Amino acid sequence: MSDITIILPEGEAKQFNAEASVADALAELLSNKQRKQTVAVAVGDNLVDLSTRLASLGQEKLEFRPVLISSDEGLDILRHSTAHLMAKAVLDLYGPNLKIAIGPAIEDGFYYDFDRETPFTPEDFESIEAKMQETVKGGIPFERKIVSKAEAITLFEEKGEQYKVELLKEIEGDTVSLYQLDDFVDLCRGPHVPNSSWLQVFKLIKVAGAYWRGDEHNPMLQRLYGTAFADKKKLKKYLNDLEEAKKRDHRKLGKELDLFTISDQVGPGLILWQPKGALLRRLIEDYWKEEHYRHDYELLYTPHIAKLDLWQTSGHLDFYSENMYSPMVIDDVQYQLKPMNCPFHISIYKSKMRSYREFPLRWCELGTVYRYERTGVLHGLLRVRGFTQDDAHIFCRPDQLEEEIFNILDLNLNILETFGFDQYDIYLSTRPDKYVGSEEHWQKATDALKHALEKRGLAYRIDPGEGVFYGPKIDIKIKDVLGRSWQCSTIQVDFNLPERFEMSYIGEDGKEHQPIMIHRALMGSLERFIGVLIENYAGAFPLWLAPVQARIMNITDAQSDYSEKVYRELRQSGVRIEKDLRNEKLNYKIREAQLAKIPYMLIIGDREAESGTVTVRERSGKNLPPMSVKDFAVKIKDECTAVLG
Ligand SMILES: [Zn+2]
Ligand SMILES: [Zn+2]
Repeated sequence: MSDITIILPEGEAKQFNAEASVADALAELLSNKQRKQTVAVAVGDNLVDLSTRLASLGQEKLEFRPVLISSDEGLDILRHSTAHLMAKAVLDLYGPNLKIAIGPAIEDGFYYDFDRETPFTPEDFESIEAKMQETVKGGIPFERKIVSKAEAITLFEEKGEQYKVELLKEIEGDTVSLYQLDDFVDLCRGPHVPNSSWLQVFKLIKVAGAYWRGDEHNPMLQRLYGTAFADKKKLKKYLNDLEEAKKRDHRKLGKELDLFTISDQVGPGLILWQPKGALLRRLIEDYWKEEHYRHDYELLYTPHIAKLDLWQTSGHLDFYSENMYSPMVIDDVQYQLKPMNCPFHISIYKSKMRSYREFPLRWCELGTVYRYERTGVLHGLLRVRGFTQDDAHIFCRPDQLEEEIFNILDLNLNILETFGFDQYDIYLSTRPDKYVGSEEHWQKATDALKHALEKRGLAYRIDPGEGVFYGPKIDIKIKDVLGRSWQCSTIQVDFNLPERFEMSYIGEDGKEHQPIMIHRALMGSLERFIGVLIENYAGAFPLWLAPVQARIMNITDAQSDYSEKVYRELRQSGVRIEKDLRNEKLNYKIREAQLAKIPYMLIIGDREAESGTVTVRERSGKNLPPMSVKDFAVKIKDECTAVLG
């Protein structure tokens, strides 16, 4: 074969012998420094190993894009390679009565699934990590081999690796690629790091059960999770964040701060709000209602059940039934617990003739819905069976759509900012393959969403084909203080329900038209959003959200009467106040208030009782000079107004 021409982005073309490897070419094309950072190269859409022979790429002219270890693609390769390294260590330590399944890179690291009778324990992690380090020190290459499918099946059958055999039998084509790391062979597409010395920084994280191929009829395997990075600092930060996330777990804090509870007798996935959690929720609801009032919304209340017929018309019975509870019979008629609020709002719309003049209609409701979720996926407040959506539906004319979307975005971002979230990822999902409505309507609606986003100066990404079948949508994921993303807001245009319910209005031309319907939820659900808030603030809520804003504590019994008086006065002026007048040492009381994450402590001794003041201590430990009770009440009010306006 003749020479092969290689060109790099912004580089000049060079000729190489066809027998040379990618690494050989890079040695001449890149500086030493660049070369040390390059873990693989992209050729078109394919990523290939550095050991790949140029001739095997099958072209006379190739454009190489070096994949740096510091890039997302590079990190994926590093993590995926570490999964192989871990599987080898596990086999070395616990084989041969253990079968291997699959081991991909995932968002925060990688995993590998093993079929082994004895469960792995965190104590095993150290031995596995030590074994992995041995291989790392050896600098052992990842060797790629192309073999026939039949040959690979025989190989894995001999090893008794039935999961690999099963996978192989489903692969199309005659050949497959195997990768060998020392004595460990795995079926894999690659690419990998050139050799094990690249895999210096890793850590095993946890073990969890996982069904083979995610199917509960299959054997339960053990999934070992780990993570890997290109440098130690990043691993350290990741592990710190992980620790921090554990401390912030809303299920743990929800219990410690007395916010909510879940009872076996009531049922899984059903939240019981404790007084403090209920107060927190009321504060959010009040704020939400105020904001919506200011933005020209009207508030609705609708029932929790409706005749089955409603859900037949809406299509939920046909398309959503696996998420719905069984109907109940009342007076020989079947009724259904609601999984959504939309059909109720439509029924209110249809209660009379509508005219273009009254548009847009902006109707909001904190609507509690019930949806079936498998017990296994329920998770504190984040995944539940009964929850309250901060729902709204907007009915408008086509020419009002863009402005309405803009207004929703504006309200949405204002609300998120008040709660302390100003980092988000925004996605615009466009028409999927299966859809209702005309192509023209989809185009217009998608353009309206785009223009509104652009007008509000928001960066967004397009998710092609990921819209719901009934219309395009905008999703907003917020980022918390640990940089974790949470899906919250969604704004969806709907061409389906207005059609199904034969909704109409009288237009300016005196004729009947079909309105545009928008569904939107900003926080998503109150349960989930409060879960995110708890984790974001580690339970130390800002003053305006704190269920208890201040706690009074006396130094001795001598100040009990005065403390009671202060308590009553502050309670009357609307401060969310508590008292701790127990016969305990002040330091003990302070420590408890700190654990309860209460923003202010009001300390009352003889001096305060005599002068009619309180000494204010902040949650941070800072003491403020004594102030009058009235001044403290004003201070609280001012601080909340500064946030809420
Ligand atoms: Zn692999
Ligand atoms: Zn809806």
